[in-house]
Amino acid sequence: MSKKKKNRSGKAAVEARKRRILGDTIRYKCLECGIEEDIPRGVVEMFDALDDEGDLTVPPRFDCEECGGLMEPIEYTGVHGVEYKIADKKEDDEKGDWLF
Ligand SMILES: [Zn+2]
Repeated sequence: MSKKKKNRSGKAAVEARKRRILGDTIRYKCLECGIEEDIPRGVVEMFDALDDEGDLTVPPRFDCEECGGLMEPIEYTGVHGVEYKIADKKEDDEKGDWLF
């Protein structure tokens, strides 16, 4: 019986290496144009922590570089333990479409 070789050059290995360099990232989505961007968790959590006095039900948000729209995390659990999930629709944003 021969040992099965471990394939270390596959796509998974590349992803793993990237993850080690970038660290954990949060996937953000623009509510206007729908573009998605990975933002390092450290950056998101920094903004989240700074927002201590604010509304905890609202996640840290960023401006879209493409259209200037609002970017929100698709799925993110904040430093205050609040779980955010983007609703799969564009309207009614003002009312806060978060599923807890
Ligand atoms: Zn946009």
